[in-house]
Amino acid sequence: LSIKAEELVMLKKLGSGNSGTVSKVLHLPTQKTMARKTIHIDAKEVIQSQIIRELRIMHECDSPFIIGFYGAFLHEGDVVICMEYVDCGSLDKIFKLTGPFPDFMLKHIAYSVLSGLVYLYDNHRIIHRDVKPSNVLLDSKGNIKLCDFGVSRELINSMADTFVGTSTYMSPERIQGGVYNIKGDVWSLGLMLYELASGKFAFGGAPGGAAPGVSGLKGDPQIKTPDSILDLLQRIVNERPPSLKESDGYTPELCEFVELCLKKEKDRPDPHELLKHKFLADFPEPDSLKVSAKYRSDIKKWAKNVRRVQKGKPTK
Ligand code: ADP
Ligand code: MG
Repeated sequence: LSIKAEELVMLKKLGSGNSGTVSKVLHLPTQKTMARKTIHIDAKEVIQSQIIRELRIMHECDSPFIIGFYGAFLHEGDVVICMEYVDCGSLDKIFKLTGPFPDFMLKHIAYSVLSGLVYLYDNHRIIHRDVKPSNVLLDSKGNIKLCDFGVSRELINSMADTFVGTSTYMSPERIQGGVYNIKGDVWSLGLMLYELASGKFAFGGAPGGAAPGVSGLKGDPQIKTPDSILDLLQRIVNERPPSLKESDGYTPELCEFVELCLKKEKDRPDPHELLKHKFLADFPEPDSLKVSAKYRSDIKKWAKNVRRVQKGKPTK
Protein backbone atom coordinates (compact mmCIF):
# COMPACT_ATOMS: atom_id res chain seq x y z
CA LEU A 1 0.00 0.00 0.00
CA SER A 2 1.51 3.30 -1.08
CA ILE A 3 -0.15 6.21 0.70
CA LYS A 4 -0.15 9.75 -0.67
CA ALA A 5 -0.61 12.90 1.40
CA GLU A 6 -3.64 14.07 -0.61
CA GLU A 7 -5.48 10.79 0.00
CA LEU A 8 -5.74 11.49 3.73
CA VAL A 9 -8.65 13.50 5.14
CA MET A 10 -8.17 15.01 8.58
CA LEU A 11 -10.81 13.89 11.09
CA LYS A 12 -9.46 15.01 14.46
CA LYS A 13 -6.25 16.08 16.16
CA LEU A 14 -5.20 13.43 18.69
CA GLY A 15 -2.30 15.22 20.31
CA SER A 16 1.24 16.42 19.93
CA GLY A 17 4.48 15.70 21.71
CA ASN A 18 8.17 16.44 21.43
CA SER A 19 8.47 14.83 18.07
CA GLY A 20 5.39 15.85 16.19
CA THR A 21 1.65 15.89 15.82
CA VAL A 22 -0.76 12.96 15.59
CA SER A 23 -4.18 13.13 13.90
CA LYS A 24 -6.97 10.71 13.21
CA VAL A 25 -7.41 10.62 9.43
CA LEU A 26 -9.45 8.79 6.80
CA HIS A 27 -7.55 7.14 3.94
CA LEU A 28 -9.95 7.70 1.00
CA PRO A 29 -8.95 4.82 -1.36
CA THR A 30 -9.35 2.16 1.35
CA GLN A 31 -11.82 4.03 3.62
CA LYS A 32 -9.59 3.03 6.52
CA THR A 33 -9.29 5.18 9.62
CA MET A 34 -5.62 5.72 10.47
CA ALA A 35 -3.44 7.67 12.88
CA ARG A 36 -1.08 10.01 11.01
CA LYS A 37 2.04 11.20 12.76
CA THR A 38 3.87 14.16 11.25
CA ILE A 39 7.46 14.69 12.36
CA HIS A 40 9.32 17.79 11.34
CA ILE A 41 12.99 17.04 10.81
CA ASP A 42 15.60 19.53 9.79
CA ALA A 43 17.73 17.15 7.80
CA LYS A 44 19.02 16.81 4.26
CA GLU A 45 16.83 15.01 1.81
CA VAL A 46 19.19 12.01 1.67
CA ILE A 47 18.78 11.58 5.41
CA GLN A 48 15.01 11.93 5.16
CA SER A 49 14.85 9.30 2.42
CA GLN A 50 17.02 7.03 4.55
CA ILE A 51 14.52 7.43 7.42
CA ILE A 52 11.64 6.40 5.16
CA ARG A 53 13.63 3.34 4.04
CA GLU A 54 14.43 2.36 7.62
CA LEU A 55 10.81 2.76 8.69
CA ARG A 56 9.88 -0.04 6.26
CA ILE A 57 10.98 -2.56 8.90
CA MET A 58 7.68 -1.69 10.53
CA HIS A 59 5.89 -3.53 7.71
CA GLU A 60 7.49 -6.69 9.07
CA CYS A 61 6.44 -6.09 12.67
CA ASP A 62 3.53 -8.41 13.21
CA SER A 63 2.50 -8.83 16.82
CA PRO A 64 -0.71 -8.16 18.74
CA PHE A 65 1.37 -6.01 21.13
CA ILE A 66 2.77 -3.71 18.44
CA ILE A 67 0.95 -0.95 16.58
CA GLY A 68 0.04 -1.79 12.96
CA PHE A 69 1.85 0.14 10.21
CA TYR A 70 0.40 1.27 6.88
CA GLY A 71 3.27 3.27 5.41
CA ALA A 72 5.51 6.33 5.62
CA PHE A 73 6.38 9.09 3.16
CA LEU A 74 7.93 12.55 2.92
CA HIS A 75 5.64 15.54 2.53
CA GLU A 76 6.72 19.19 2.45
CA GLY A 77 9.82 18.45 4.46
CA ASP A 78 8.04 16.33 7.07
CA VAL A 79 8.28 12.62 7.73
CA VAL A 80 4.72 11.27 7.77
CA ILE A 81 3.95 7.91 9.38
CA CYS A 82 0.57 6.22 8.94
CA MET A 83 -0.29 3.72 11.61
CA GLU A 84 -3.22 1.87 13.09
CA TYR A 85 -5.70 4.11 14.90
CA VAL A 86 -6.26 2.78 18.42
CA ASP A 87 -9.65 3.92 19.67
CA CYS A 88 -9.22 4.41 23.45
CA GLY A 89 -5.91 6.21 22.90
CA SER A 90 -2.88 6.31 25.16
CA LEU A 91 -2.69 5.42 28.87
CA ASP A 92 -1.96 9.01 29.96
CA LYS A 93 -5.23 10.20 28.41
CA ILE A 94 -7.13 7.26 29.85
CA PHE A 95 -5.65 7.89 33.30
CA LYS A 96 -7.09 11.42 33.25
CA LEU A 97 -10.57 9.89 32.94
CA THR A 98 -10.23 6.87 35.21
CA GLY A 99 -7.65 7.70 37.87
CA PRO A 100 -5.51 4.85 39.30
CA PHE A 101 -5.84 1.58 37.36
CA PRO A 102 -7.13 -1.67 38.91
CA ASP A 103 -4.67 -4.51 39.54
CA PHE A 104 -5.83 -6.65 36.60
CA MET A 105 -5.17 -3.77 34.17
CA LEU A 106 -1.69 -3.23 35.63
CA LYS A 107 -0.98 -6.94 35.10
CA HIS A 108 -2.35 -6.80 31.57
CA ILE A 109 -0.27 -3.69 30.76
CA ALA A 110 2.91 -5.18 32.25
CA TYR A 111 2.37 -8.45 30.40
CA SER A 112 1.59 -6.75 27.06
CA VAL A 113 4.43 -4.22 27.23
CA LEU A 114 6.97 -6.94 28.13
CA SER A 115 5.65 -9.19 25.36
CA GLY A 116 5.94 -6.29 22.89
CA LEU A 117 9.51 -5.53 24.01
CA VAL A 118 10.47 -9.21 23.70
CA TYR A 119 8.90 -9.39 20.24
CA LEU A 120 10.75 -6.28 18.99
CA TYR A 121 14.08 -7.34 20.41
CA ASP A 122 14.06 -11.05 19.63
CA ASN A 123 12.74 -10.69 16.09
CA HIS A 124 14.11 -7.35 14.94
CA ARG A 125 16.83 -6.39 17.47
CA ILE A 126 14.85 -3.23 18.20
CA ILE A 127 15.00 -1.55 21.62
CA HIS A 128 11.96 0.63 22.26
CA ARG A 129 13.78 3.56 23.99
CA ASP A 130 10.64 5.56 24.77
CA VAL A 131 8.31 3.50 26.95
CA LYS A 132 5.91 5.93 28.64
CA PRO A 133 2.13 6.15 29.10
CA SER A 134 1.59 8.18 25.92
CA ASN A 135 3.30 5.47 23.85
CA VAL A 136 1.17 2.62 25.19
CA LEU A 137 -2.26 2.43 23.56
CA LEU A 138 -5.49 0.60 24.47
CA ASP A 139 -8.29 -0.38 22.11
CA SER A 140 -11.90 -0.97 23.14
CA LYS A 141 -11.44 -4.75 22.80
CA GLY A 142 -8.85 -4.56 25.57
CA ASN A 143 -5.67 -4.94 23.48
CA ILE A 144 -2.56 -3.05 24.60
CA LYS A 145 -0.17 -1.91 21.85
CA LEU A 146 3.23 -0.22 21.84
CA CYS A 147 3.97 2.66 19.46
CA ASP A 148 6.85 5.10 18.78
CA PHE A 149 9.70 2.66 19.21
CA GLY A 150 13.19 3.19 17.85
CA VAL A 151 13.02 1.49 14.43
CA SER A 152 15.05 3.98 12.48
CA ARG A 153 18.62 4.78 13.47
CA GLU A 154 18.56 7.97 11.39
CA LEU A 155 15.27 9.08 12.94
CA ILE A 156 16.69 8.55 16.43
CA ASN A 157 19.79 10.58 15.49
CA SER A 158 17.86 13.37 13.80
CA MET A 159 15.50 13.65 16.74
CA ALA A 160 18.36 13.76 19.21
CA ASP A 161 19.53 16.90 17.36
CA THR A 162 16.18 18.67 17.57
CA PHE A 163 15.12 17.27 20.93
CA VAL A 164 13.53 19.91 23.14
CA GLY A 165 12.30 17.97 26.14
CA THR A 166 13.73 15.23 28.28
CA SER A 167 11.75 12.20 29.20
CA THR A 168 11.18 11.59 32.90
CA TYR A 169 11.09 7.88 32.14
CA MET A 170 14.80 7.62 31.34
CA SER A 171 16.76 5.11 33.40
CA PRO A 172 19.61 6.30 35.67
CA GLU A 173 22.22 4.56 33.49
CA ARG A 174 20.91 6.33 30.39
CA ILE A 175 20.94 9.73 32.10
CA GLN A 176 24.55 9.01 32.99
CA GLY A 177 25.31 8.35 29.34
CA GLY A 178 25.86 4.60 29.55
CA VAL A 179 25.11 2.15 26.75
CA TYR A 180 21.46 1.77 26.24
CA ASN A 181 20.08 -1.74 26.40
CA ILE A 182 16.68 -3.34 26.76
CA LYS A 183 16.80 -3.03 30.56
CA GLY A 184 16.34 0.72 30.17
CA ASP A 185 12.86 -0.03 28.84
CA VAL A 186 12.18 -2.19 31.92
CA TRP A 187 12.99 0.81 34.16
CA SER A 188 10.52 2.95 32.19
CA LEU A 189 7.86 0.26 32.53
CA GLY A 190 8.41 0.20 36.31
CA LEU A 191 7.95 3.97 36.62
CA MET A 192 4.87 3.86 34.46
CA LEU A 193 3.30 1.10 36.57
CA TYR A 194 4.14 2.99 39.75
CA GLU A 195 2.36 6.08 38.42
CA LEU A 196 -0.66 4.27 36.99
CA ALA A 197 -1.13 2.37 40.28
CA SER A 198 -0.60 5.23 42.71
CA GLY A 199 -1.62 8.30 40.74
CA LYS A 200 1.59 9.99 41.91
CA PHE A 201 4.65 11.22 40.12
CA ALA A 202 7.46 8.87 40.85
CA PHE A 203 10.09 11.49 41.69
CA GLY A 204 7.91 14.20 43.17
CA GLY A 205 6.71 17.13 41.17
CA ALA A 206 3.24 18.31 40.40
CA PRO A 207 1.26 18.95 37.22
CA GLY A 208 2.88 21.83 35.41
CA GLY A 209 6.05 21.19 37.39
CA ALA A 210 9.48 20.49 36.00
CA ALA A 211 8.62 17.49 33.91
CA PRO A 212 5.16 16.04 34.25
CA GLY A 213 4.78 12.46 33.10
CA VAL A 214 1.17 11.34 33.19
CA SER A 215 -0.79 14.57 33.25
CA GLY A 216 -3.53 14.41 35.83
CA LEU A 217 -1.19 12.88 38.39
CA LYS A 218 -0.89 14.50 41.76
CA GLY A 219 2.43 15.60 43.13
CA ASP A 220 3.30 13.56 46.19
CA PRO A 221 3.00 15.99 49.13
CA GLN A 222 5.76 14.04 50.91
CA ILE A 223 8.22 14.79 48.13
CA LYS A 224 9.39 18.23 47.13
CA THR A 225 8.68 19.28 43.55
CA PRO A 226 11.94 19.23 41.55
CA ASP A 227 13.20 22.76 40.85
CA SER A 228 14.24 22.03 37.32
CA ILE A 229 14.69 19.22 34.86
CA LEU A 230 18.33 18.92 35.99
CA ASP A 231 17.21 18.58 39.58
CA LEU A 232 14.83 15.83 38.52
CA LEU A 233 17.48 13.95 36.52
CA GLN A 234 19.85 14.19 39.45
CA ARG A 235 17.21 12.66 41.70
CA ILE A 236 16.63 9.77 39.30
CA VAL A 237 20.35 9.03 39.40
CA ASN A 238 21.04 9.60 43.10
CA GLU A 239 17.91 8.87 45.08
CA ARG A 240 16.28 5.62 46.03
CA PRO A 241 13.60 4.81 43.47
CA PRO A 242 9.98 5.09 44.61
CA SER A 243 8.21 1.96 45.78
CA LEU A 244 4.62 0.87 46.25
CA LYS A 245 3.70 -0.17 49.79
CA GLU A 246 1.56 -3.15 50.73
CA SER A 247 0.15 -1.00 53.53
CA ASP A 248 -1.46 1.16 50.82
CA GLY A 249 -3.43 -1.84 49.60
CA TYR A 250 -1.23 -3.07 46.73
CA THR A 251 -0.55 -6.79 46.39
CA PRO A 252 2.91 -8.01 47.45
CA GLU A 253 3.39 -9.32 43.88
CA LEU A 254 2.81 -5.87 42.35
CA CYS A 255 5.08 -4.16 44.91
CA GLU A 256 7.89 -6.63 44.22
CA PHE A 257 7.43 -6.44 40.45
CA VAL A 258 7.74 -2.64 40.40
CA GLU A 259 10.70 -2.79 42.77
CA LEU A 260 12.53 -5.21 40.42
CA CYS A 261 11.91 -2.94 37.41
CA LEU A 262 13.41 0.00 39.32
CA LYS A 263 16.61 -1.72 40.43
CA LYS A 264 20.00 -0.45 39.33
CA GLU A 265 20.90 -1.83 35.92
CA LYS A 266 23.06 -4.76 37.06
CA ASP A 267 20.36 -6.14 39.39
CA ARG A 268 17.42 -5.40 37.10
CA PRO A 269 15.82 -8.40 35.36
CA ASP A 270 15.33 -8.42 31.58
CA PRO A 271 11.86 -8.71 29.97
CA HIS A 272 12.11 -12.51 29.58
CA GLU A 273 12.83 -12.95 33.28
CA LEU A 274 10.06 -10.56 34.31
CA LEU A 275 7.48 -12.44 32.25
CA LYS A 276 8.08 -15.37 34.61
CA HIS A 277 7.46 -13.27 37.74
CA LYS A 278 4.58 -14.35 39.97
CA PHE A 279 2.77 -11.03 39.42
CA LEU A 280 2.11 -12.36 35.89
CA ALA A 281 1.51 -15.97 36.88
CA ASP A 282 -2.03 -15.95 35.50
CA PHE A 283 -0.89 -14.83 32.08
CA PRO A 284 0.14 -17.15 29.26
CA GLU A 285 3.51 -17.37 27.52
CA PRO A 286 4.36 -14.41 25.26
CA ASP A 287 3.57 -16.07 21.94
CA SER A 288 0.27 -17.62 22.90
CA LEU A 289 -1.32 -14.21 22.17
CA LYS A 290 -4.24 -14.79 24.45
CA VAL A 291 -5.15 -12.88 27.55
CA SER A 292 -5.62 -15.15 30.52
CA ALA A 293 -9.21 -16.42 30.69
CA LYS A 294 -9.28 -15.38 34.32
CA TYR A 295 -9.00 -11.70 33.41
CA ARG A 296 -10.25 -11.58 29.83
CA SER A 297 -13.79 -10.45 30.58
CA ASP A 298 -12.70 -7.91 33.24
CA ILE A 299 -10.22 -6.36 30.78
CA LYS A 300 -12.76 -6.21 27.94
CA LYS A 301 -15.38 -4.66 30.19
CA TRP A 302 -12.92 -2.08 31.53
CA ALA A 303 -11.77 -1.09 28.02
CA LYS A 304 -15.37 -0.84 26.75
CA ASN A 305 -16.25 1.42 29.65
CA VAL A 306 -13.27 3.70 28.94
CA ARG A 307 -14.62 4.11 25.40
CA ARG A 308 -18.13 4.82 26.71
CA VAL A 309 -16.83 7.52 29.07
CA GLN A 310 -14.82 9.06 26.21
CA LYS A 311 -18.01 9.23 24.16
CA GLY A 312 -19.93 10.77 27.06
CA LYS A 313 -22.08 7.68 27.72
CA PRO A 314 -22.72 6.14 31.15
CA THR A 315 -20.56 3.13 32.09
CA LYS A 316 -21.98 -0.40 32.15
P1 ADP B 1 3.72 11.86 22.94
O1 ADP B 1 3.78 10.37 22.75
O2 ADP B 1 4.99 12.42 23.47
O3 ADP B 1 2.49 12.29 23.71
P2 ADP B 1 3.13 11.90 20.12
O4 ADP B 1 3.27 12.97 19.08
O5 ADP B 1 3.86 10.63 19.89
O6 ADP B 1 3.55 12.53 21.50
O7 ADP B 1 1.60 11.54 20.26
C1 ADP B 1 0.63 12.49 20.61
C2 ADP B 1 -0.63 11.82 21.15
O8 ADP B 1 -1.34 11.17 20.10
C3 ADP B 1 -0.33 10.72 22.16
O9 ADP B 1 -0.24 11.26 23.45
C4 ADP B 1 -1.50 9.76 22.01
O10 ADP B 1 -2.52 10.10 22.95
C5 ADP B 1 -2.01 10.02 20.60
N1 ADP B 1 -1.70 8.88 19.69
C6 ADP B 1 -0.49 8.59 19.17
N2 ADP B 1 -0.54 7.53 18.34
C7 ADP B 1 -1.84 7.12 18.33
C8 ADP B 1 -2.56 6.04 17.67
N3 ADP B 1 -1.94 5.20 16.85
N4 ADP B 1 -3.88 5.90 17.92
C9 ADP B 1 -4.51 6.77 18.75
N5 ADP B 1 -3.90 7.79 19.41
C10 ADP B 1 -2.58 7.98 19.21
MG1 MG C 1 4.28 9.12 21.25
